[in-house]
Amino acid sequence: MSTIFKQIIDKKIETNLIYEDKLCLAFNDKNPIAPIHILIVPKKEIPTINDLTEEDKNLIGHLIFTAKNIAKEKNIEETGYRLFFNCNEDGGQTIFHIHLHLVGGKKL
Ligand code: 5GP
Repeated sequence: MSTIFKQIIDKKIETNLIYEDKLCLAFNDKNPIAPIHILIVPKKEIPTINDLTEEDKNLIGHLIFTAKNIAKEKNIEETGYRLFFNCNEDGGQTIFHIHLHLVGGKKL
């Protein structure tokens, strides 16, 4: 069964995209924990951070670079923000398609 994020990537579920390129896309989290809460999601299906391989190193760098650019567009680069990946149960992961959280717009 594909995850909800795979369905968003395949445009089977309509979502307002903040950014898209050939490797990833970004959209607002549906349950934001701060005024800005954006998910940066690779198009490649990788269930957890544990499943990363050598060949994914550039992809992970690309996600972080994309998050940095979005933070600038959203005017939170100077006030600051948090970037994180959750992994598995204790990490609080609920969707098993890796995604980078970009959270800001308030003091965390
Ligand atoms: P995780 O806990 O796996 O790191 O993060 C999953 C995130 O995806 C959660 O913050 C949750 O609010 C968000 N989310 C879950 N389902 C959807 C959805 O259908 N659309 C959007 N935009 N976000 C979702």
